[in-house]
Amino acid sequence: MKILVINCGSSSAKYELFDITKFKSLEKGIVERIAGYSGYAKAIKTIKSRLSTRDIDGIGHRVVHGGEVFKKSAIITNKVIKTIQKFNKLAPLHNPPSLAGIKACLKIFPGIPQVAVFDTAFHQTMPDYSFIYGIPYGLYKKYGIRRYGFHGTSHRYVAEKAAGVLRKPLKLLKIITVHLGNGCSMTAVSHGKSIDTTMGFTPLEGLLMGTRSGDLDPAITTFLMEKLEWHPGRINNLLNKKSGLLGISGISNDMRDILMQMKRGNSRARLAFNIFVYRIKKYIGAYTAAMDGLDAVVFTAGIGENVPRIKNILRKQLQPIFGKKVKFLTIPTNEELLIAQDTYRLIKCK
Ligand code: ADP
Repeated sequence: MKILVINCGSSSAKYELFDITKFKSLEKGIVERIAGYSGYAKAIKTIKSRLSTRDIDGIGHRVVHGGEVFKKSAIITNKVIKTIQKFNKLAPLHNPPSLAGIKACLKIFPGIPQVAVFDTAFHQTMPDYSFIYGIPYGLYKKYGIRRYGFHGTSHRYVAEKAAGVLRKPLKLLKIITVHLGNGCSMTAVSHGKSIDTTMGFTPLEGLLMGTRSGDLDPAITTFLMEKLEWHPGRINNLLNKKSGLLGISGISNDMRDILMQMKRGNSRARLAFNIFVYRIKKYIGAYTAAMDGLDAVVFTAGIGENVPRIKNILRKQLQPIFGKKVKFLTIPTNEELLIAQDTYRLIKCK
């Protein structure tokens, strides 16, 4: 059984082909520099021509925003496409490329069942007191302003893997998953369900990231608007593209560069690193309280998997409080494999 996974980003399309019954990746690659939405059809054609087989049983797509509608992965139908389209306004940079990829695949791989796997779906189990912001309730009702959370596929994947490592059913565990890639987020996974996560209405909230500020006082935005006469787009660009590790260090958004400069004694690189780690620590405390306990903290993604130092610092600082029974684990994420598994599961029962 062969499942193709497609992840269309703002200017690239990644793909990976799995033999899903053997949990095996067969081939993968990326088509870059896609220009405009018509470019995605060309990219999907290129992917088809690169694949060593025509024999594909299903296609799984990563879709960033599923709003409040998609609580699980879904077989793609016209109705599903229309619903995803509705969430374009909540994820204007992310959903349109996914939709372009889905539409291109329907034409280029006709008759092959397709599935959408949403970054937001895993977090749809959050209780209202965790996803509602402290602003007038009508704004949630009218515009859908609430915490959605992202990276859901990664948090779900590593939480399930952690249960395997701990040799306990996920349903009995309280786990904090820490996804540290270009974007960074943490999730409180209580008895297998996301009950809180650091990213919010958009991926800007929460942890310090490569170029995103994470948490900040919202009054800073109105201050910049009034005092400097900045327009919203400029503030958006500052907070999403020029802040975080890059903004604080003035060096780079890449953790490898920050670590190298720290070694050379650069104090701003050290400050950026300290803020990065401190914020993770604060959320570990918050989520331990939110779950009334903790069994494990799991680190994943580019930084989480390659910089054991962050895990070691936090373990050393927190072990006197938690004791040795709380495990600190590193587990490589594999969102593509989970997308392939969901696709297989859904098309099998179609
Ligand atoms: P994405 O969120 O785009 O999937 P990744 O999970 O690949 O990103 O993570 C990218 C980040 O991982 C980069 O910012 C880089 O700093 C960091 N990273 C990758 N490899 C290493 C490494 N060996 N040492 C330190 N940081 C690394």
